[in-house]
Amino acid sequence: MPKQDAAPKWQDLALGCATLEPGSSKYQKTGDWRSSRPVWNFDQCVKCGVCTVFCPEGCLSIDAKGYPQVDLDYCKGCAICVTECWTGCISMEEEKD
Ligand code: SF4
Ligand code: SF4
Repeated sequence: MPKQDAAPKWQDLALGCATLEPGSSKYQKTGDWRSSRPVWNFDQCVKCGVCTVFCPEGCLSIDAKGYPQVDLDYCKGCAICVTECWTGCISMEEEKD
């Protein structure tokens, strides 16, 4: 662990996967670091759309039948959709790999 005064300044750090330009966040696949994913029991889903409103990644959309669908490239597994679904039809499942 470097001493505080030996640590590089943030301006000197490598850019890595920074989101710098407008619209560039789509290139940062936040789903890469997910450890669990939401799973739906569509028998209980009433198609209210509440889960899609609260997803902080904007990775939930509505399919042609009115059910929510998740884009796993961007779902980070935060489980907010599970908390906000008032019918209890979403659960979290651990990623296998
Ligand atoms: S787990 Fe989080 S990021 Fe993934 S769909 Fe639910 S609210 Fe969105
Ligand atoms: S909040 Fe629950 S019931 Fe409503 S659309 Fe989402 S999953 Fe279905």
